Amino acid sequence: MSATWPRRPRLVAGNWKMHLTPADGAALAREFVALRAADPAAATSAVALCPPFTALSAVAEAVRGSGVFVGAQNMHAELKGAFTGEISGPMLASLGCRFVILGHSERRHVMGETDAMVAAKLRSALRDGLTPIVCVGELLAEREGNKTEEVLVRQIAAAYAGLDAATAKTTVIAYEPVWAIGTGKVASPEQARDAHRVVRATLDQVVGGGTGSDVAILYGGSVNAGNAATLFLEDDIDGALVGGAALEAAGFWKIAAAAAVAR
Ligand code: PEP
Repeated sequence: MSATWPRRPRLVAGNWKMHLTPADGAALAREFVALRAADPAAATSAVALCPPFTALSAVAEAVRGSGVFVGAQNMHAELKGAFTGEISGPMLASLGCRFVILGHSERRHVMGETDAMVAAKLRSALRDGLTPIVCVGELLAEREGNKTEEVLVRQIAAAYAGLDAATAKTTVIAYEPVWAIGTGKVASPEQARDAHRVVRATLDQVVGGGTGSDVAILYGGSVNAGNAATLFLEDDIDGALVGGAALEAAGFWKIAAAAAVAR
């Protein structure tokens, strides 16, 4: 992925959550880079490794020159200040981050992040030269209550209202149904496709300018080496945000390779 943002890039991002020390993270990154380098024909999807803050430097060093990107799992919206335990966009950029995950369901539902906080972080990430991966998705009770569309429209509208189309197209969205994250219950390709279409239609309403058809939307929630290829057959699925299966190099490489061949 070059400085010029391609339309709907294929992207697979690995969210390592609160796992791996710098040494273990660097070892995993090196193993992944070697697998990718050995199969250049399948290495056409962009890949981002998103370790904990403490492993960012080591992982950035491990992937240097490989074409694999590094991302963070969260950031604060302010540039600096009295925000104990937080980290700013420029700090992440200085460690070699290209991407930052925003509004992950564990941030929204465990740490209490609101739609307004995610919106502020989105603007700050863009200000700081980071590519945001904005997570949206419904809880199980919301799906069962036929509220999926309502939730997605609310989350996307809150995050994207007021952004211009050219800027919005440089962001990435991850549709992650909360009931599928870390549960082994992957959404069906049709469920993911329908949700992605809601996100695209909402972007067209909220931002306009062809944003809906041009923005990259990843699916996340129990993606693994066995189910990724089927998901990637859906035109509206541009890649994946992967949690558990990103902690093992060979399996994560299979997912990245599947994203590459699917288009
Ligand atoms: C995630 O953490 O974003 C995620 C999708 O996790 P998992 O792949 O383990 O469901």
